[in-house]
Amino acid sequence: MSSSLLSQSDASPGLMLSLLQRQEVPVVLYDGPFLVVDDLDELGSEMASQYDVILLLAEAPGSELNAAVERIQLTLPDTAIVVALPDQPAAAVIAQYILSGVQEVVSLGMTTLDDWHQAFQLALSRKQYESQLKRFSHYDPLTQLANRSLFQDRLEHSLLQNQRRERGMGILLLDIDRFRVVNDIYGHQVGDELLVACTQRMLDKVRRSDTLARLGSNNFAVILDDINDADCMQRVADKLSQAFNHSFTIGGNEIFISVSMGMELASRVTYDAGQLMRHAELALHQAKRNGRNASLLYQGERSPADKVRLGLESALHHAMDREELHLVYQPQAIVDSGVFVGVEALLRWQHPVLGNVPPSVFIPVLEDTGLIESFGQWALEQSCQQFADWINAGKLSPTTKLSVNLSPRQLHQGDLVVQVQRALNRSGLAARCLTLEVTESMLMNNLDQSVSMLAQLRQLGISVAIDDFGTGYSSLSYLKDLPIDYLKIDRVFVKDIVEDANDAAIANSIIGLAHNLGLKVIAEGVEEAETLEMLRLFGCDQYQGYFYSKPVQADEVIQLLAAE
Ligand code: C2E
Ligand code: CA
Ligand code: CA
Repeated sequence: MSSSLLSQSDASPGLMLSLLQRQEVPVVLYDGPFLVVDDLDELGSEMASQYDVILLLAEAPGSELNAAVERIQLTLPDTAIVVALPDQPAAAVIAQYILSGVQEVVSLGMTTLDDWHQAFQLALSRKQYESQLKRFSHYDPLTQLANRSLFQDRLEHSLLQNQRRERGMGILLLDIDRFRVVNDIYGHQVGDELLVACTQRMLDKVRRSDTLARLGSNNFAVILDDINDADCMQRVADKLSQAFNHSFTIGGNEIFISVSMGMELASRVTYDAGQLMRHAELALHQAKRNGRNASLLYQGERSPADKVRLGLESALHHAMDREELHLVYQPQAIVDSGVFVGVEALLRWQHPVLGNVPPSVFIPVLEDTGLIESFGQWALEQSCQQFADWINAGKLSPTTKLSVNLSPRQLHQGDLVVQVQRALNRSGLAARCLTLEVTESMLMNNLDQSVSMLAQLRQLGISVAIDDFGTGYSSLSYLKDLPIDYLKIDRVFVKDIVEDANDAAIANSIIGLAHNLGLKVIAEGVEEAETLEMLRLFGCDQYQGYFYSKPVQADEVIQLLAAE
């Protein structure tokens, strides 16, 4: 290794300049003396992680420097970076490097020993502050484990590293079986304590270098570096499942739980994070279908059900390019007056051979594969554009509203707010014309994160509706804490209210309670006049359903209104 040590007093601007001329070297500050290395490759992460600051000397800003910055961020994410350039850099250049994660940019010419000291101290403080911010946004507050976003980061990072070294790695997804039941029986407090206790047991079973993350309420994931075969993977799964062999005692209750696990090895599927996750998820679903309390390595495309799924999956991959997707719109109206108030956009897939594939078949596949993120974005953009066109052409009143369905994945996408804003900007649709529909189960999955996401969305000026109310985790009590505007009662609670007194009582009380919380209520699936009449008695605000209209093609919406 051709590194050499300099004392701090050696580190004059002149020396730095001469170093710069000698080679394109990074210089590492080593608590007093500097360690000078000729080549970034010498920054073995073990050695370099002892240093708090890395100083990069560069002749000019540009791709070489950018690559070095990126490389350090990847291999030494906790180290502060100072960039030194021979000439005073322009403000735009400084800004560019600061935005790319460099902590300080200095000019060699102007830098005395004191200046160096100050620059390093400043860089250190900034890095510490950034790390603090990161802790807040990257860790799950309950278990202190990495959250989904940090997990994704680490996964990409691990994949790169292992690929470079031609080593295998694996991921393991773990679900606590029937966790909801625990919550229902013992309450959320006990549920939370149970999650913390589970976390501790799992941490005892994995290596310190493995990343254990909490991806959702009862979903965990482990990144296992340097694992090359199925046997190793299975041993880890066995160890983890042992962790749950004996019961937990929480709040005086003895609780038994089991877990299901799905796994995949990176070396078999190339080093692709998305595919790795999908395979592990499929394996996890399969493990659950096999009766829970099981672990399973992804089996490839063996089972016929998987084959059908994969067939659908690949057909869906092409559906967008081949323009097989379109939206239909179902009108919504005021219960009292029958006046049209808006539409709900619904996705349709017309496959050349399979024909019209029902959303109940293809939406779950989109959801499982992650394709829903792009399809959902497409539906949002497309429907906003269509709705804005109608308003601009004077065909719809600007007081009417467009409702768009969001999938659970979209809700937990980091940039959802940006995407919604973009759809509004591109189409010119006013925010008050847009309502996003989310289901209660997707909120319950990660309540805190969901609440903050909904609040941000509402700050844009759009409205939020709870879809399919009553089918999921139906407790009105948590609704009061949610930043929402509308409650949509699912068809199962609406369809029999005329004949069934019990259903009528439920619908009536849902409407009353929702009104107490300041929410407007939309009844779904109204097919008959009598049902509508009953809803009117209950004070329901709006409705949609075949009685008014089935979902129709875009051009039929306007025809329908003209015919009124
Ligand atoms: P949803 O959001 O509850 O949509 C309402 C569903 O009820 C629609 O089914 C609609 O056709 C149907 N419906 C409306 N009125 C009546 C009625 O009077 N009687 C009966 N029997 N049914 C009625 P559809 O279009 O098959 O959609 C099914 C589900 O697929 C939707 O349920 C929604 O969860 C999902 N979905 C549809 N489009 C999208 C989308 O763009 N994004 C996402 N994430 N999900 C979507
Ligand atoms: Ca809906
Ligand atoms: Ca619904």
